[in-house]
Amino acid sequence: MGNFRCGPDSFLSHFVHEEMAGKPYLELEIDEHSADAGIMTRIEAFLDSIRFLRKQGAEGKTIITKELILGKTPGEVAENVLKTGKTLYLPPVNNDHVFALEAAFRANGINAKVLPETDVESLMWARKYTNNKECYPYIVITGDIVRATKQEWFDPDNSTFFMPAGNGVCRLNHYESMQRQVLHNLGLPQVELYAPTAEKALIDMGRVNLRLPIDCWTAIAASDCLFSAYRQTKPYEVIKGKTERVYEHVKKMLCETILNHGNIHNTMKLARREFDTIEVDKSIKKPRIGIIGEFYLRWHPYSNNNIFELIERLGGEVVAPSVGENMYHFNHTMMDDTKRKKKRLYWLELFLSGRWQKFHEHNIYKPFADFLEIYPEPSVQELEDLAAPYANEIIENEITISIGKARWLLETKQVCGIINLIPFTCLLGTPIAAMLKRLKEDYPDAAITTFKFDGGAEVNILTRLEAFMHQAHQYVDQQLTF
Ligand code: SF4
Repeated sequence: MGNFRCGPDSFLSHFVHEEMAGKPYLELEIDEHSADAGIMTRIEAFLDSIRFLRKQGAEGKTIITKELILGKTPGEVAENVLKTGKTLYLPPVNNDHVFALEAAFRANGINAKVLPETDVESLMWARKYTNNKECYPYIVITGDIVRATKQEWFDPDNSTFFMPAGNGVCRLNHYESMQRQVLHNLGLPQVELYAPTAEKALIDMGRVNLRLPIDCWTAIAASDCLFSAYRQTKPYEVIKGKTERVYEHVKKMLCETILNHGNIHNTMKLARREFDTIEVDKSIKKPRIGIIGEFYLRWHPYSNNNIFELIERLGGEVVAPSVGENMYHFNHTMMDDTKRKKKRLYWLELFLSGRWQKFHEHNIYKPFADFLEIYPEPSVQELEDLAAPYANEIIENEITISIGKARWLLETKQVCGIINLIPFTCLLGTPIAAMLKRLKEDYPDAAITTFKFDGGAEVNILTRLEAFMHQAHQYVDQQLTF
């Protein structure tokens, strides 16, 4: 028995279904509109089906096993991938970070490949293998995985999928076991998932190969830096398309540097020089829009209806959070956790890893330090402090950094609008949406809104975004007339 749109139930119902395979069971989903009569009818029908099956003498057969749910540890899977040369398929999150990550894996002997971009076929397969109540990112990624397994080039005996996991209240911690179940049902139990937990992904990678986390962090930090430079420049370019060309070129340079273990600092210096060749006109002020919200959705253009491009088309500039911000946050929460549990050695490992990340990132960003207009950004602790009046301090997840980031951007007047991008029914995004209403009361001169996505038509998004951008333009005009 569950509540309508209950987050955990959307995943647990799959396990119940598998566990009960062949046996009758009743699932009641109740909300404030559920009428007694409807429930009674369903219970009666359920009891009838049990009586009928008893008469038939039918027996169910449980197929789910503990091994299927738990799978192997990330370390075991990674070692296997390294030893056997299996292909490690990465989800096609975006064109901004994932190819640099692919290069980082390849530089360390892992045959990584980014899956083809998400398309309608991915969603078609996803709808077949999900109940449409899970998180939208799960639906999309699962669709990409199933679509891959249907391709001629797919070799099940030599393939592994990369699916970062999580350890919190959020449903991310169910993705991997559910996808393992999907692969099992597809008749592909040999296909593994490499699922390091996001909170300690770099440390786990280091146990497999010391160089791997260094290259992965280089890929993330450098991609974040180039992405910010790209977004900040493109709306003001004088020659249309120039920023795009430069961005594509510097991304290729970055991938080659990572792949060949080249000098990242030289590459970033060269990238800066390339950005300097782009002529910009900043005489007309454009509304800057800060993006917060769910991690996958904000980075996956297919899932968010390419909203960054739409904002720019409507005359705005996008300020997106970095991927690195989430990595710092994971590190921070794990440190708090290990401190509470008195796991001193582990705490030290996290502390040193966090320090090194910061130091390395600082060096990577150096050539762009006087170029990026929103840099450096606040630490996780600062973001948590900023979020404190809106989010309870025991909330140790993306809620605090999203709210803290929104407040910092508004407080420092770096943006005139905030958009919270979340999947429909997201366990973290929904409270953020509620807290933003309070933030709006404190910052009445800012445009603040939430966009929820579930794969629906783009027209709704566009209409709402047009209204939002109209408001944001007005705020900019007001500021200019003061
Ligand atoms: S953040 Fe939201 S959408 Fe993403 S995995 Fe967690 S509950 Fe699902």
